[in-house]
Amino acid sequence: MDVRKRKLLLIVTLLVVVVAFSIYVIYQKGSISEKYYYSRALQVKESCPQYDIQVDFDPDREMIKARETIIFQNKTPSELREIYFHLYPNAFKSLESAPFPAEELKYAYPEGFSEGYINVTNVTANGRNLEYHVEGTILKVIMPEPLKPGEKIKIEMDFQEKIPFSLGRFGHGKNTYNFGNWYPILCVYDENGWNLDPYYSIGDPFYSETAIYKVSITAPDGYTIAATGKLEEKILEKGCTRWVFRAELVRDFAWVAGYGLKVISSKVDGIKVSAYYFGDKESAAKKALEFGKQAIRFFNRYFGLYPYEEYSVVMADFYIGGMEYPNLVLIDHHLLDDEILLEYVVAHETAHQWWYGLVGNNQIKEPWLDEAITEYSTVLYFEGVYGKGKGNEIYKDFILYPYRFFEMGNSSGPILRSLSQFAGWGEYDATVYKKGAIMLKELEGRVGKSKLREVLRHYLRENVFGNATTEDFVNAVNSVMGTDFKEVIYEMLRKAGNLQESNAA
Ligand SMILES: [Zn+2]
Repeated sequence: MDVRKRKLLLIVTLLVVVVAFSIYVIYQKGSISEKYYYSRALQVKESCPQYDIQVDFDPDREMIKARETIIFQNKTPSELREIYFHLYPNAFKSLESAPFPAEELKYAYPEGFSEGYINVTNVTANGRNLEYHVEGTILKVIMPEPLKPGEKIKIEMDFQEKIPFSLGRFGHGKNTYNFGNWYPILCVYDENGWNLDPYYSIGDPFYSETAIYKVSITAPDGYTIAATGKLEEKILEKGCTRWVFRAELVRDFAWVAGYGLKVISSKVDGIKVSAYYFGDKESAAKKALEFGKQAIRFFNRYFGLYPYEEYSVVMADFYIGGMEYPNLVLIDHHLLDDEILLEYVVAHETAHQWWYGLVGNNQIKEPWLDEAITEYSTVLYFEGVYGKGKGNEIYKDFILYPYRFFEMGNSSGPILRSLSQFAGWGEYDATVYKKGAIMLKELEGRVGKSKLREVLRHYLRENVFGNATTEDFVNAVNSVMGTDFKEVIYEMLRKAGNLQESNAA
């Protein structure tokens, strides 16, 4: 062998080793690489909203006082004369507007109705007062001059909030203060213009854009704070502590405060996973931590990497079971007493970190996108971690049978409906969660499990950090399958009553 040939052989061998190693790394981490997220992240970061919020938390008065700065860029093709924010806490002003179904008010307000609200004052830009109007849960801010496409504006505002004694997303119980959907957040401007939906009492009626957050919270000594993002600094001041969090490329920011709230943490795939709990529930909290880690590990491989440094599972005074926020989920602390339900809810909320967190959607208009895919993902988790038998059992017990039970007395309408088209939680849950997951199982039966996995990975890759629509889901199916599934999918999404019996496991 001459020198040139030997050189060539060496190069080829090296190449083979490098490629094999890359495939190994990609397989280990899930093939949506950090590099891919990085390039998409750079793009989004250039123009996404930036929030800077400074909060004074006063649990004695059940109040917070805050100052919020928002940098907003006009990404629409038209001049904007006004911009809009949601003021969700105003839904808690009266029993009539409280975002709970009537039959659940007794759980939401165990000690009777308790008022909550947000009061916005001093809206300014460049030191100039801006005209603004509040109507229910919507804040309209008039621009000093029309904001041209591409232009940015920095708006500052002050606000005060009353935290109700209420066990929902925004409110407190005896152990935790839950701050979900708590600050003025920009409404989304899309192809339909501004989305100014109210705080519906069913579903998770939220729709927002990926943004950058810096939130500093001053809390009295003795309080622990769990939040979206990463704790950057903890500054001790007189009688209180300032907790500074930073979060990039998340579509919301939530936090929970609790006096003497405890935390246990552990790492999986380099991600710090924490479980927050109160009282003497450490051994149950350890289970919640394990389920959280197991779910992150499974979805990392099955769909693609969770690109954030931290993930927190927070056991809270929260009657609704579970609720997803970026990097943080709320779990009803009573679930610690029911291991299988705890694992189901933790796996479900963790799956939302992909379907809601990484790929968002208009949860008012097309709630099936995140909920049905998340329910389907939860079954995948049980199948992946414990085997096919367990997966089937979970599918029957948590999806198929509850759906059939509902169908015995009712007829489920189409899956593809907006929140306002559902009469109540029962119908919503049976149709969007259960029937939606059955529809995806049906699709799995047609295209095969590994193809549907490819579809979901494609859907993630194409829409990460953005908001996807049913159309984007159809596109993902079509591009993986190479044939047009549009009609098939829409037929299933629009069908009233049972889907085909072929699916009956
Ligand atoms: Zn969900």
